[in-house]
Amino acid sequence: MSSTASTSTPGRRPRLLIIGGGFAGLNLAKTIDKRSWDVTIIDRHNYHSFPPLFYQVASSGLESSDICFPFRREIRSRKVKGADYRFGDVRSVDFARKEVSTQFETIPYDALVIAAGTTNNFFNIPDLHKHVFTLKSVSQAIRCRNEVLDRLERASISRDPAERARLLTFVVVGGGPTGVEIAGALGEMKRYVIPREYPAISRDDVRVILVEGTDTLLRTMSPRSGKDALKALGQLMVEVRLGKSMKTYDRGVVTFSDDTTIETETVIWTAGVTGESFEIKGSDVAPGPGNRWIVDEFNRVQGLSDVYALGDISLHISEKYPKGCPQLAQVAIQQARTLGRNLNSGRFDKPFKYRDMGSMATIGRNRAVVDIGRTHLSGWLAWVAWMAVHLMSLLGMRNKAVVLINWVVSYFTFSAGLRLMLRPSKYPVRSYWED
Ligand SMILES: Cc1cc2nc3c(=O)[nH]c(=O)nc-3n(C[C@H](O)[C@H](O)[C@H](O)COP(=O)(O)OP(=O)(O)OC[C@H]3O[C@@H](n4cnc5c(N)ncnc54)[C@H](O)[C@@H]3O)c2cc1C
Repeated sequence: MSSTASTSTPGRRPRLLIIGGGFAGLNLAKTIDKRSWDVTIIDRHNYHSFPPLFYQVASSGLESSDICFPFRREIRSRKVKGADYRFGDVRSVDFARKEVSTQFETIPYDALVIAAGTTNNFFNIPDLHKHVFTLKSVSQAIRCRNEVLDRLERASISRDPAERARLLTFVVVGGGPTGVEIAGALGEMKRYVIPREYPAISRDDVRVILVEGTDTLLRTMSPRSGKDALKALGQLMVEVRLGKSMKTYDRGVVTFSDDTTIETETVIWTAGVTGESFEIKGSDVAPGPGNRWIVDEFNRVQGLSDVYALGDISLHISEKYPKGCPQLAQVAIQQARTLGRNLNSGRFDKPFKYRDMGSMATIGRNRAVVDIGRTHLSGWLAWVAWMAVHLMSLLGMRNKAVVLINWVVSYFTFSAGLRLMLRPSKYPVRSYWED
């Protein structure tokens, strides 16, 4: 399997094409030597975004621009300088011709890096994607925010008790970090924001229900984190239903695995992800479980030449991680740096080894859980650690400063967000604008 710049035409630098400018794609573009490689990042958005804070956009804590950074600006920065950015949604990859096609153009490559991340998995529940709200992109987070605010405004007007109950019931499906964080943020709105800003609504009428199919929250973290999260959600008046999964959601009625039902106009789905997909041409090699590309310890896609996969969309099975590394930002960043070094040297002598830096989740203001090795933190200290890590990881000084100011103001006032329902106008339709 060829893995180096040797495939290129003499006299020009080989082109390294990266699909996706997320944590993996952007960190690779930073590490790679631009004197040896012609680097192009293709992304369907013209900005890098920060998924760990999508829930804060959805719950009006932050603005979308606070957690995004434009590729055009980033490629002028010292580390990424020399790379190119192309706007486009990758629709197909031809491994035989070594070409990638978006809705606008076809781009040739010498080496290809698939770093497109994941999208929502609706587990084949019929039409679910049309009715639930999700948090896998900034656009989806903004949509979620608008829908929550819409329910509160309409409930403030409605005189019909059944309708008000439907409007004021928020169901979050999935007890992983995203589900816990958005449920906590809604619980905080119920507890602190609604009594002050929506006088026509009694907070006791608002229900935030978090549903999880297994018997524990945050099952990728320590059992203590799951228990602490459960307690913290209780303090925020969130109803947690464990051991219950959602079967269907039809005409405003959620039906659970035990055939109980809840009427609601708002279901936030955080229950599963699957790798992003595109049409494959010129090879029979296809992604493996979870639609993730199976890679070796050097992130080379098995069965293909000059093709690599990084981050959430890659699957590296090892003794320590028989189901692949966790789909976390740190895995994506560390893989990208290792691949960058191997591509720079051309020797492929540095296998990827995940260094676990810990995991964390926050449950509203002042409460978080953190696991670092065997150390477990919860409460205020964990929340401060959570804030520091997230602030450091954000791109752009302006974003760091704005987010810090927002969090400080929220800490003292319980409310920094402006809760504006800002919706794009519908026409003219841009069919090629991806979500
Ligand atoms: C709501 C949420 C909260 C999270 N919280 C945490 C957390 O607290 N801590 C943590 O470690 N991890 C967290 N994660 C996981 C973390 O975000 C991922 O592990 C990380 O983003 C993976 O990086 P990546 O580069 O593989 O993919 P991404 O960061 O998802 O980047 C993929 C990029 O590819 C682009 N793309 C996708 N498909 C196409 C296409 N067809 N054409 C062109 N461009 C495309 C996308 O626009 C995106 O920019 C969270 C994820 C979500 C969704």
